[in-house]
Amino acid sequence: MKAIRLVEIGKPLEMQELPIPSVGNRDVLVRVKAAGICHSDAHYRAGTSSVGSLPQTLGHEVAGVVEEAGSQVTGLEIGDRVCLHYLLTCGDCTYCSLGSEQFCTSGRMIGKHCDGGYAEYIAVPARSAVRLPDEIPFEHGAVLMCSASTSFHALQKTRLAAGETVAIFGAGGLGMSAIQLARALGALDVYAVDINPDKLRQAEKYGAIPVNAAEDDPVGKLRELTGGRGVDVALELIGLPQTMQQAVQSLAVFGRAGLVGITDKPFELYSYAELLGREAEVIGCADHLLHELPLLLEFARRGQLDLSDVVTRTVPLDADAVNDVLDALEEFGGDVRTVITP
Ligand SMILES: [Zn+2]
Ligand SMILES: [Zn+2]
Repeated sequence: MKAIRLVEIGKPLEMQELPIPSVGNRDVLVRVKAAGICHSDAHYRAGTSSVGSLPQTLGHEVAGVVEEAGSQVTGLEIGDRVCLHYLLTCGDCTYCSLGSEQFCTSGRMIGKHCDGGYAEYIAVPARSAVRLPDEIPFEHGAVLMCSASTSFHALQKTRLAAGETVAIFGAGGLGMSAIQLARALGALDVYAVDINPDKLRQAEKYGAIPVNAAEDDPVGKLRELTGGRGVDVALELIGLPQTMQQAVQSLAVFGRAGLVGITDKPFELYSYAELLGREAEVIGCADHLLHELPLLLEFARRGQLDLSDVVTRTVPLDADAVNDVLDALEEFGGDVRTVITP
């Protein structure tokens, strides 16, 4: 089979011919129908994030069709449409039994620690294959496995309840999912904070109230818009100390700030005024969980989470085409998604 692989850090990915992976008793072989090209893949290629041993087939956002199932696989049959949870976990360790399998002691990520979906086929434990409803295109199923699920997990971690208000800092790819999912979970008002008027217009299309941080101080504006109360949940999806601080400062009494964006810089907070005095919380959010995927997929099936503005382009399984997309992600950032359709 064909696979597009990272052979050397800092070099373009290469097409290699590999044997079709063999399937263990509890595994399924999936014929890849869609593999999202993620900004993380550009980091792996550049060496700014580490990967397992090389060469490695990249691609952690994968959807396809079950081609073969191991003898002990139940609940999945040949021909089933599936999307893949990118974390391969044991299911038995302390963290797995607590339902927090993103910290599985033997967890591996596809397309990072083991071969991923930039290929014609991939074999994974059946436990990681989630049925993809017919109404959801493969391209959307693939992207649902990364950015949308990260946003969904952050809304779960911050315990968003129906009737609450939410501010989303960063109206990019993650933000567009977060806005729609917050509404699907029953948020009363969702505010989108960004400095880019185009992104704010798109956020408005999905039902968010725009707050242009280039024109107004977002903390003051959010207080004004909530009658002085502040928001119950603020998600920081950008990864800047300034917006992390703003997210905390925007909180109401008992508010929760979920930090999703990554930075190595510290941010400042005033413990009494911003946390203790409001019994507010700052919550770190990482990855997502297998058990969160069925509800996420159901929101997508019902059209409450629409990814048609996010997945804008497809390319064939071709090394040059994929390297071009990764070059563009490095240059312009990763708000819209290109998906490989082998
Ligand atoms: Zn991704
Ligand atoms: Zn485990």
